[in-house]
Amino acid sequence: MTGRRRRPHFRLETPPGVADFHSVGGRAAGDWETNESDERQVATHCAFCGVQCGMHLRVAGGRVIGVEPRMDTHNEGKLCPKGVAAYQQISHPDRLTHPLVRDGDGLRRATWDEALDRVVDGIGRIQAADGPDAMAVYGGASMVNEKTYLLGKFARVGLGTRFTDYNGRMCMVSAGVANYRSFGIDRTANPITDLAFTDVAMVLGANVPETFPIYIRWFWEAIDRGATVICVDPRETSLARVAQLHLPIRPGTDAGLLNAMLHVVIRNGHVDEAFVAGHTTGFDAVAAAVAEWPPERAADVCGVPAGDIERAAELFGSADKAMINHARGLEHQVMGSRNAMAAINLCLATGNIGRPGAGYGTITGQGNGQGGREHGQKCDQLPGQRHFTDPGAIEHVAGVWGIDPADMPGPGEPIFAVLERMERGEVRGLLNICSNPMVSWPDEARTKRILETLELYVVIDIFLSESALLADVVLPGSAWAESEGVVANSDALVCKINKAVDPPGEARDDMWILCELARRLGRGQYFPSSDPRDVFDEMCRASAGGRADYSGITYERLEAEGPIAWPCPSADHPGTPRLFEDLRFYTSDGRAHFNAIEVDPSAEEPDAEYPLRLTTGRTVAHYLSGNQTRRLEYLADQTPATRVEIHPETAAEFGITEGAAVNVTSRRTTIVLPALLVKTIRPDTVFIPYHWARPVAANQLTKAAFDPSSWIPAYKTAAVRIERAVGGASTVSPPPVWKDDTR
Ligand code: SF4
Repeated sequence: MTGRRRRPHFRLETPPGVADFHSVGGRAAGDWETNESDERQVATHCAFCGVQCGMHLRVAGGRVIGVEPRMDTHNEGKLCPKGVAAYQQISHPDRLTHPLVRDGDGLRRATWDEALDRVVDGIGRIQAADGPDAMAVYGGASMVNEKTYLLGKFARVGLGTRFTDYNGRMCMVSAGVANYRSFGIDRTANPITDLAFTDVAMVLGANVPETFPIYIRWFWEAIDRGATVICVDPRETSLARVAQLHLPIRPGTDAGLLNAMLHVVIRNGHVDEAFVAGHTTGFDAVAAAVAEWPPERAADVCGVPAGDIERAAELFGSADKAMINHARGLEHQVMGSRNAMAAINLCLATGNIGRPGAGYGTITGQGNGQGGREHGQKCDQLPGQRHFTDPGAIEHVAGVWGIDPADMPGPGEPIFAVLERMERGEVRGLLNICSNPMVSWPDEARTKRILETLELYVVIDIFLSESALLADVVLPGSAWAESEGVVANSDALVCKINKAVDPPGEARDDMWILCELARRLGRGQYFPSSDPRDVFDEMCRASAGGRADYSGITYERLEAEGPIAWPCPSADHPGTPRLFEDLRFYTSDGRAHFNAIEVDPSAEEPDAEYPLRLTTGRTVAHYLSGNQTRRLEYLADQTPATRVEIHPETAAEFGITEGAAVNVTSRRTTIVLPALLVKTIRPDTVFIPYHWARPVAANQLTKAAFDPSSWIPAYKTAAVRIERAVGGASTVSPPPVWKDDTR
């Protein structure tokens, strides 16, 4: 490599009328200009969120040296700050470049043979003593589908365990439960682009401008076109600021609000009776349930004026075309899946489904948050969104895998139920790929205690995450630009990810690692190839006839036509951007199902000792646990440290000033953070971003409480108190990022 540091390699002009998130300005650290004559561009999609923006990577001298706009995909060339900087992780000096094994209290460099032997010996010892289910697998929804498919197969065929699950458990599972119970299929019903046709767009618990920045254009354009936006969020996001109606809801109370809106819709005669009678079941039970929710009751529970609830319901109910979109704010609660079903009830009652601009959308957080829940790494699922409850599904998948259906392990359990088994000593080993539980799971002290007591903890990652620090074996895997594959974005658009370079040093493709482990476990005959095209073809065969049917999609089609929305059951099928246009649903009776919603209190209600509600979330510059983005200088510079956001009235009550060090205490522990005083949050609520590790990790405070159906953690509803830290510094340094120092 003969390059030298220069200006950023991102050259877009800001299109008029579009949010300016992609403007970089100044030098982006890690950018290189090169004199190499082999420079080429690789068309691909972003490493990060569920929008999956298209981009071109500039490659020269075996390195990814920059990013260029890509105009032929749904983002039309635009990228947010994360997308602009994503390429910088590829050749980052912190990359893991050789295996590590635990030696006493530390990790030391090892050969692949030694590391893999350590893994295989550990698995053999654990399973010989306690059976196959004593091992568990935990994957990620940022990996391409080929990897998620192979991981689920590796768990069930390579290890023979039923315990496989994924980090969408912290993301899309509440939406998934609601989608299955209401529609019989788990994907967004309407694409976000349907906002172009809607009259009323209601968005709940989604800080779209910061967490899905490129999608915000659809809301801005809807407003410009004259559509009405209703924003439900305890924080006044920049979307809430321009919405015609902002309902600053008390965290954890969404179902009460939605029930009350449906109450008003019914009372005011806005039910689409022909649709309800012809295409749904369960309306009468829902009508009886919401009769108990007049707006005045919801106003007390939700902390918003009854008149605003009436207005929102009237706007939504009287619209010809209305849409609901929601994200984690509504879902990260013990009521998460019920909140989502309450939102669907509102859409169904008003006949808003299956039409352009009329429907329901779930916005996925992770890059492959949709695809990661389609092909079998999720505990209750086989490839193609098939279910263990269907004997035909087991037979079909077993046939593709070449195993006896009787040898297929049964359905597993959500990872947080498996953690309870780990605490009881029933599960003693964990293979963890592409996720960082030490930062992302609730109640960090409990997470640490559990991971440290495992007999075998194996991590496959590209950086030495806070979780990898606890591992017995760390295997250096591949970054997103180092292997080929597909992802499904938030709109279920299957997008092609292309390989730009090889993994650095001795790091290997994740699929090679899984296949090699299977071979050493004596199961190699079931994993004959780690070539992504072979794995993709097998995955498509396994998905054929399932809900998430990819069998009509090929790499060649994606390269020629661009992203295709599943289901796509044949080579001449155009894909399915919008579901239910024929008003047929994927339920056993072909109808959409209403679900009556009982409202429970949040996981931890404030009291005299802990009087405030803590809600957590993301910032525009960082992604999930920050294991990738905290290392990228451009992003770390943009948002270098965390904070606790407090309303000025609340701050004054507790004697806290701007920038002061604040003790934030929950029933778990106390952490110290700098105060950021903002009028854009409810006075009874504080907010902490969750991208940083201890000593400032938000999840040191959160409670290990879960939605009883989806097992999503109740991240949005811990009870806390705040006080000025005695003698505390006025600024708090960010925690370190870890790197392998054995090189
Ligand atoms: Fe697009 Fe999301 Fe990547 Fe930003 S992080 S560039 S919005 S895919």
